[in-house]
Amino acid sequence: MSSPARDIFLGTDSGATTSKTGGVFADGTPVSLKLRQSSTNSQLGTAAVIAGWVEGAEGFLKDNNLGWDRVAAAGLALPGPYRSYGILEKSANLPESFAGWNFHADYAAALAKAAGRPIPLFAGNDGDFGGVGEAARVRGETKATVLLLAPGSGLGAAYIDAHGLPLSGDHLSGMEAGHMPVPLHLLGHGLEKLPPFRCGCGRPWGCIEAYSTISGLPQFLEAYLPRHPGHELAASTDTPKHKALSLRGRAQKGDPLALEIFDTQARALGIHVANLCMALDPGIVVIGGGLIDPESTTPEFRQRYLDGIRRAAEPFLYPAQRARLKIVPATLGELSQAIGAALVALYSARAAA
Ligand SMILES: [Zn+2]
Repeated sequence: MSSPARDIFLGTDSGATTSKTGGVFADGTPVSLKLRQSSTNSQLGTAAVIAGWVEGAEGFLKDNNLGWDRVAAAGLALPGPYRSYGILEKSANLPESFAGWNFHADYAAALAKAAGRPIPLFAGNDGDFGGVGEAARVRGETKATVLLLAPGSGLGAAYIDAHGLPLSGDHLSGMEAGHMPVPLHLLGHGLEKLPPFRCGCGRPWGCIEAYSTISGLPQFLEAYLPRHPGHELAASTDTPKHKALSLRGRAQKGDPLALEIFDTQARALGIHVANLCMALDPGIVVIGGGLIDPESTTPEFRQRYLDGIRRAAEPFLYPAQRARLKIVPATLGELSQAIGAALVALYSARAAA
């Protein structure tokens, strides 16, 4: 009896609280659009985290009537920063004892034990791998390179090359594009000029992340609320965080303050798109994040946001870019990082063969 084809590539997307498992076939199509969710259990230590990843992989295989004999390689998306490849640096969302953890070696050993043979393992930043997932969808059969910007609590950024793989850099800090400064003199919205917003990274130069994501919304409110003295939020005693989180919903109903803030976010992100296009010259820009989420925003709002990004970018692009650069919404949602991790395993295993 011949052994079965090894045609399954697994992908694990490990968040601080929840891990998701997905997989692709050798042609890159997803095994399933249903992710397997499991608890990351980081509070129980690294062994519990590894056990959770393996359990997720085994559960995913079982859910899809597959066995380890079909698995060719695996990918793991884990938020950095990294000390070096496969080794974690001190991270804001994980216990301090995880600094210096060689998660690649530990997970590879656990996979080998589960499968009864070594499984090639490829690890990387979750944002980068999410970009790989989105890029595979938008580029289709072309070799177009893809820039992903996904504003959520922070600004996820990735650049995917013609081989479908992310730019990770020599210090694994490539495309940390959320912490580049924004040209403040080009922002403002009826205001003289916006101040340099504080950013979680500590850089005082006005990181784009603070002007385009949830993290900077309280500072936007501080700057813009005085121009709307009669606004409900001006009298509200709610926490700054709650006020900030109410803005997306308010914008869907046409609230002028909320729209002013998100218009400025779109403008900041558009200028950042142009900035990155000077360095990377991508064929396609994919915009992800909560403001283009069809479950939480109206089609009109999403169009206004994407148009705002394009309009802000255009004056700074070269004519060929202005004519042909595509700016499109992300489509994979929460699938992107697990599918992306599986695709990285596929592309990397193919390149190594
Ligand atoms: Zn920053």
